[in-house]
This record gives sequence, structure tokens and C-alpha cells, in this order.
Amino acid sequence: MRLTVIGCAGSFPNAHSPASCYLIEHDGHRLLLDLGNGALGALQRHLDLVWPGALDAVVLSHCHVDHFVDMASLYVQRHYAPESTREALVVLGPSDARARIAAVYGMTELGPLDAEFDFQVLQGVQRVGPFTITSVPAAHPVEAYSVRVDVDDRSLVYSGDTGPNRELAALAEGADIALFEASFVGDDNPPDLHLSARDAARIAHDSGVAHLVLTHLVAWNDDQQVLREAQGAFSGRAVLAHPGMVIDL
Ligand SMILES: [Zn+2]
Repeated sequence: MRLTVIGCAGSFPNAHSPASCYLIEHDGHRLLLDLGNGALGALQRHLDLVWPGALDAVVLSHCHVDHFVDMASLYVQRHYAPESTREALVVLGPSDARARIAAVYGMTELGPLDAEFDFQVLQGVQRVGPFTITSVPAAHPVEAYSVRVDVDDRSLVYSGDTGPNRELAALAEGADIALFEASFVGDDNPPDLHLSARDAARIAHDSGVAHLVLTHLVAWNDDQQVLREAQGAFSGRAVLAHPGMVIDL
């Protein structure tokens, strides 16, 4: 399984990175974790979207703009591309994903959207191609999920946006990579919103994860402080995500 970071900017894109988007590949199959603003362009450095088999699925952790809004642009790409005779793309996400994407696009008739996307609600354990996708509810102000992707004996856990919660720790148990958000620094942060770097490190440590990738890096934080705080609470390998980062696991 290969992870490619398409975008890792937290809350909004910055000059160097789109918002949240991660490409997961295995044996010719591909899925996306989130498609935040600015990600669709950068994604095409790694993937030819015109190819009908380009993607097996998109998994949306939640419908905040920095995690889902380029789905409206992906709809445009699929709907108007000359080779638009492909099957609907599976979209696993929260129950409001279909309505939220339609609202962004200003659609009142949802038939064309349903022709392009096969919306399914994230729920328990689901299979897409070779990927086993397990989701648990996240602690965030909207319907949101943390997601684990397993292929054979390899696994990656993506926090999405979440405050610290037991479900994430259980989901990450024994995973190869924890792709965890680190939106906050320090310890005095609002509950049920985001992880701090130290929260991410503690959960990764408690889950027995060896490799922590810190993401959702917010413009007003010092990234090196984020990394230092995580390293102070984590004995494994902790790194900062960056656009174009590739990890084979
Ligand atoms: Zn969010």
C-alpha cells in the first residue's frame, strides 16, 4: 500500500499545499481520503482523472470545506469530460455528503450527481476493491469519522478532524501508520474539535503505532513546534506531512 500526501494544510489551503487529501494505492487500485479545497489540481500530478479506472472510491471524513469541497469540481470533471461513460464513483462519507455537494454546486435536481457518484454512508467495516475500510465516529462539531484502511497485513489510520477520543485509539490499535491531524499546540484547547500534536502522539503511542505522520498543519502554528511537541510524547518515528510525500507501507 502506498500513501501519497496531496494536501496537508489545515483548515484552508496555503501557498504550498492544498487542504486535506490523501491518495492510497495498492495493486492498481486507488482511493482518496478527503478532497479539500485546492486538492483536485494537485491530485492530477499523480493521477490521470480522465482514465475511467483512475479511482475506486473517495472516502470523505466529513463535510467541512477543507475536507470535501473539491467534490463539486470532481463532479464537473466527470460530468463534462468527453469520456464520461464510466460507472458512478463510490463515495463513502457522512450521511449529508450528497446534499452538501449538491448545495455547493447549486443543484436542485440530483439525478446528474447520482449518475457520477454512488453515495454510501460510512458505517462499520466496508470493502472497496482490495481495501477494507473501517470507520468510527469522530469528536467534531459535524457528523465526522476517523477511518482505517487495511490491505493484506498493512494498515493506515486517518484521524480526519477529531478531538481526542477512545474510538480513534481503538481504531489505530496496531496500525502501521497513524496519519493524525495536529491542529493545536499546547494543552489548553477546546474539547471535541481537533487534536493537538501531543494528543496525536499520545494516541499513536497508546495504540502501538510505530510511525506517526502529522497533518492538517495550520498556517498560524510553527510546524517545528508541532513536530517537537509530538516527538516529546512519542517514542516511534514522527514526521510532518508535506505535499508530494510518499510512504510505502
Ligand atoms: Zn472539520
